[in-house]
Amino acid sequence: MTVTIALFTRDLRVHDNPVLTAAHREGASVVPLFVVDEAIAAGRFAAPNRARFLAAALGELDAELRAIGGRLVVRRGDVVTEVERVVAQVHADSVHIAADVSRYSSKREQALRERLEQRDCLLHTHASSITASDPAELVPSTGRDHFAVFTPYFRRWAETHQRKSLGKPRELTMPPVDSDPLPEAEELCAGPTSPQLAVGGETTGRKVLRDWLSGPIEGYEEHNDDLAADATSHLSAYLHFGCVSPVDLVRRVDMSTPGGHAFARQLAWRDFHHQLLAARPDAAWSDYRPRSKPWRDDPQAVEAWKEGRTGYPVIDAAMRQLLAEGWMPGRARLIAASFLAKSLQVDWRIGAEHFLRWLVDADLANNQLNWQWAAGTGTDTRPNRVLNPLRQAKRYDPDGEYVRRWLPELAHIPGPAVHTPWRENIDPADYPAPIIECVGM
Ligand SMILES: Cc1cc2nc3c(=O)[nH]c(=O)nc-3n(C[C@H](O)[C@H](O)[C@H](O)COP(=O)(O)OP(=O)(O)OC[C@H]3O[C@@H](n4cnc5c(N)ncnc54)[C@H](O)[C@@H]3O)c2cc1C
Repeated sequence: MTVTIALFTRDLRVHDNPVLTAAHREGASVVPLFVVDEAIAAGRFAAPNRARFLAAALGELDAELRAIGGRLVVRRGDVVTEVERVVAQVHADSVHIAADVSRYSSKREQALRERLEQRDCLLHTHASSITASDPAELVPSTGRDHFAVFTPYFRRWAETHQRKSLGKPRELTMPPVDSDPLPEAEELCAGPTSPQLAVGGETTGRKVLRDWLSGPIEGYEEHNDDLAADATSHLSAYLHFGCVSPVDLVRRVDMSTPGGHAFARQLAWRDFHHQLLAARPDAAWSDYRPRSKPWRDDPQAVEAWKEGRTGYPVIDAAMRQLLAEGWMPGRARLIAASFLAKSLQVDWRIGAEHFLRWLVDADLANNQLNWQWAAGTGTDTRPNRVLNPLRQAKRYDPDGEYVRRWLPELAHIPGPAVHTPWRENIDPADYPAPIIECVGM
């Protein structure tokens, strides 16, 4: 009897999961396994918001697996050692895992492969699991190992055939194997969390996805940058943890409509950053394009930015939303990042670390490379562009509704006047004067 292990990482779903499907097709019995990786829990990437989302996602995954006759087996410790232990306990013939792009995941894959080889156990990796496209397949015809510019990437991405959706296994059979209890969020990473954090998991994520595709997506092209409208999908964290399948999502989007096309384009940005990080893992922390000017050291300005007290209401609203929800719309992220890296000229890594601390959807590919884009060290073809917070506010929050939502101390100022509180006789004890004068578009 063939026994296989489906090792979950950030593909926490039963629907359209190449890892689970392949393990199920190959094995007469399957162990759905998640290892609480001590290296990640102790590393700089651990964050309380994502820990809470992850704990809920593991709970929902367990429930989804139980509905098809299985359950989630949990172990704690070093991934390689724990997988090897389970392999020995159930006499597994193979382990299946999703292909990922970070340096850490490559090392993990390599170490697993070597260790399992010694036990005559095969390791199978599956692409198009964490991203919609396979970074190894979608490469430029120039012979370069990755696309450095988004537009040609998107052209190729849109033409590339997506694999079929896999559905979910009808029924799982498991060998006898014991499990640790599901982890609590505090065990994964203790610390304060955002009070209005989204709930993690496949069941919840599939509902968010269904609601989004049933109508709101139609207005995406027109309203995605409208800060007050809150007209984006809120799928990012579900995509980050794999509660929602990127392939399944892309296949369901009607790209012939303006909303569907604009939305698919953003999903392609996600893949674009993953293919870039796969080719250049160092770009997680080093400038992708070298910068000649030094960064400014300004701890006071950085604190004001983090707390949402820069004196620019649109920046402060964005930064307070980040603390409250662990999430911000893309336009708000862009304006806030440009302010730190371009207006204050503070090193983008400081901003990226703060986002990593709070964003529930934060991942190395999207966070670091979007930060580099905003800072001018990344793939932006106009690296010197500077976003002026006032102009951006007037364009994307014309009536000031977004700002009033997040800054109670300015809620009494009607209309667009809320963007220039320094003209409204506000007591600086209630709301600060701008910490810097801004230029730009
Ligand atoms: C400085 C900065 C940091 C960011 N950090 C992250 C991050 O850590 N994790 C993350 O998932 N996204 C990040 N983004 C990208 C983007 O802002 C978020 O994906 C988006 O706001 C999430 O909301 P949504 O799901 O409603 O997005 P939607 O607008 O509905 O877009 C749908 C999906 O497309 C993808 N997407 C959208 N915009 C981008 C983009 N610019 N780059 C890559 N993928 C994109 C996301 O998976 C998103 O869920 C960052 C952007 C900036 C400017």
